[in-house]
Amino acid sequence: MSAASIRSLRRTKHTARIVIIGAGTAGIAAATRLLEQGFKHVLLLEAEDRIGGRINTIPFADNVVDLGAQWCHGERDNAVYQRVKDMNVLEATEAHYETFRCVRSNKQVLPDDIANNLKAIAFNSIPERQTELVDFPGSLGDYITKKYWQEVGKLPPMNRTIAEEFLENFHKFESSVEAADHLYEVSGRGHLEYWLCEGELLLNWRDKGYKSFLRLLMNAKKDEPEDLGVLKGHVLLNKRVSEINYQAADEIVIRCWNGEVLTADHVICTVSLGVLKEQHASMFVPALPEAKVRAIKGLKLGTVDKFFLEYPVPPLPEDWPGFCCLWLEEDLQELRASERFWLESVFGFYPVSYQPRLLQGWIIGEHARYMETLTEQEVLDGLLWLFRKFLPFDVPQPQHFLRTQWHANPNFRGSYTFRTTYADELRTGAWDLEAPLLDVAGKPRLQFGGEASHKHYYSTVHGAAETGWREADRLNTYYRSRTAQL
Ligand SMILES: Cc1cc2nc3c(=O)[nH]c(=O)nc-3n(C[C@H](O)[C@H](O)[C@H](O)COP(=O)(O)OP(=O)(O)OC[C@H]3O[C@@H](n4cnc5c(N)ncnc54)[C@H](O)[C@@H]3O)c2cc1C
Repeated sequence: MSAASIRSLRRTKHTARIVIIGAGTAGIAAATRLLEQGFKHVLLLEAEDRIGGRINTIPFADNVVDLGAQWCHGERDNAVYQRVKDMNVLEATEAHYETFRCVRSNKQVLPDDIANNLKAIAFNSIPERQTELVDFPGSLGDYITKKYWQEVGKLPPMNRTIAEEFLENFHKFESSVEAADHLYEVSGRGHLEYWLCEGELLLNWRDKGYKSFLRLLMNAKKDEPEDLGVLKGHVLLNKRVSEINYQAADEIVIRCWNGEVLTADHVICTVSLGVLKEQHASMFVPALPEAKVRAIKGLKLGTVDKFFLEYPVPPLPEDWPGFCCLWLEEDLQELRASERFWLESVFGFYPVSYQPRLLQGWIIGEHARYMETLTEQEVLDGLLWLFRKFLPFDVPQPQHFLRTQWHANPNFRGSYTFRTTYADELRTGAWDLEAPLLDVAGKPRLQFGGEASHKHYYSTVHGAAETGWREADRLNTYYRSRTAQL
């Protein structure tokens, strides 16, 4: 037996070297729990020059905005909510995402009775899905479309064109919830794998942003990027990992893009599914097992981007709690033939809690990825054109403008994950992504965390945190059982 193998056999919680790739929620959750459990050599390697990953709270306008995760979704069984519920840091968001105006591309605002009837169909379909999708063989898009028209048929006769325009917009809104390009790629049955936590679904972090949760995890006292709390001395920024070589029986060799090489006994990889899709073939030596590659291919990380526009005063009239864009067919055809075609996937604009001078817009899918390639000025010009096209009043130039680029960033390659119809075909899911690679003695060597690997809370921060804790507990259980055997 080699000296390295003997060293590896003798490792304890105090000597085992654990490298976590990625300092997003999952990585931070794993690292903080490992330290709590008594592990000493815990190192986080992060490609960006900041921690947080898809939690990115930045100063903007009167306080902060969240470029990534913004709301805590639900209360019961939600690990984020449960941690902070007694701290008075979360607040239910105003009903803007229900009370918004529906505006057509000829500036016509849908009368309240029609808009409310259509919204009710859309929103009421959410709980019913839970039972009706169980045996549904098709995509979420097939289900929602069928259900929508059944329910519209029960309403007093209405203009079918308007109902169609609304359905188009509802599809885009739901696609943003899933982060899908369109709902026909979202598995109907797979959609049920996601568990909705009961309680308020849009809890905001007041004027502090989602980074409050990370500070709490790390026990950071100061609201400054330098304060890493218990992770002080355990994080290396600007360390983009290019290769994880687990060929040898003992050590794992980790190479960074700048040529640095590190060794570890255990690696917990928490990079996004987008990074895995793009890089798994070159990142892992030897190649990952077939089942894991199937999961990487079958699951999908889609693109949702945000726009933030800052004005000197609130930009919408008081009785406008946000608006969604309904395209008339002839206007849509014209748009599609123009260079502004990407605006088709901008589905609505809403106020931001604790930021009365802001307007937040959303764009999804392929057009979001195209938008990310344009200059900020081109994007802003497009949005101002959209306002002129739809709104029956003038909206001035904003003072400041921001848009996100989650797909263009090679450390993310998208926003969050969903279950595809293709994953159904491949019979794969989070279970394949989660499965650790063990040595012959059952020691976890290469482990996987991150939101995509959560069976039920994927696409969320509470899901990502649970996966980090899961992988820390896996190692802790292994070392506890070894100590018991000795
Ligand atoms: C626009 C948007 C809105 C969202 N809204 C919400 C919301 O309201 N509520 C909610 O619960 N969730 C929301 N989410 C999802 C939520 O942000 C994620 O599920 C969660 O933050 C993912 O955490 P993670 O640790 O799994 O991954 P990440 O946060 O992506 O962490 C992975 C880390 O790995 C790093 N990395 C990547 N490649 C390498 C490499 N080669 N070497 C070293 N490091 C690397 C990355 O830089 C990153 O920091 C949103 C996400 C987006 C993008």
